[in-house]
Amino acid sequence: MKYTLQEFLKEYPNDAACLDRVFKLRFGDMQRVCPCCGKETTFRRVVTRRSYQCRLCYHQLYPTANTPFNKTRTPLNYWFYVMYLMTTTRNGVASTEVQRALGVTYKTAHKMTTQIRKLMQEDHKIKLRGYVEIDETYVSTGKSKKGDTGRGTESKKPVFAVVERLGEVRATVMPEITIKHTDKYLQKHVSKDAHISTDEFPLYNGLKKRGFINHGVIKHAMEEYRKGETSTNTIEGFFSQLKRMIFGTHIHVSEQHLQKYVDEAVFRYNHRFKDVDMFGCLVLRLIDYQEKPSL
Ligand SMILES: [Zn+2]
Repeated sequence: MKYTLQEFLKEYPNDAACLDRVFKLRFGDMQRVCPCCGKETTFRRVVTRRSYQCRLCYHQLYPTANTPFNKTRTPLNYWFYVMYLMTTTRNGVASTEVQRALGVTYKTAHKMTTQIRKLMQEDHKIKLRGYVEIDETYVSTGKSKKGDTGRGTESKKPVFAVVERLGEVRATVMPEITIKHTDKYLQKHVSKDAHISTDEFPLYNGLKKRGFINHGVIKHAMEEYRKGETSTNTIEGFFSQLKRMIFGTHIHVSEQHLQKYVDEAVFRYNHRFKDVDMFGCLVLRLIDYQEKPSL
């Protein structure tokens, strides 16, 4: 199901329409029991601020509190538009593009994309099973003193990922690829009975000992790419997508923000088959979103 720009603009034409939507997502109907006076009442939007007031006791509810739009002065329809852009483009949207499209400062554009990436962060509770591929890759980051400009010394950061074929991916930036770090991650995200494929990287030799009994190895050094059900093509596909997004769209990312870009790639990957449009999914996340401290 494709959600078109026209539909988007009709649904979210201005700040008020977006605020109404956020109110309904977080508090339900405008006609509701007031948490302050306890009476069945109607809440009305206060024109001068982003709040709604109880008709009876004037208690105010702030729908954007604890959302990515908390305390923003940027119109909410701008925020929603960036969410729309980020979920309808294949390789993401650069902050400079948002800056140009909306006529906001780079700082604002960057803040918006960063906050929206936080909304994309998935809370994985289900372990991957079936055919699972494991691999690691290295992404160069421009390490920056100021954080965002990406200038300064370059370093390569490892990203570790597991994917279920025809299923979901999990990925994380690791301090380094060691047995300790990877094992902790695998225990959390992969079912013991999964059929695992890796390449010949020595670290994976001990998988059987650590309880992952079905482990097949692809020897890339011998130009092997598929051996029966053993292959790492799917996870490599995810990594190329991640890199296309980072180097194609963003050119460089800082070490500090790398995890958020990984989260964005994971979100996009995991929603690729879903019937619901990605934008709709993201909007629904506002319901119980809790702002997390930034990394
Ligand atoms: Zn009240």
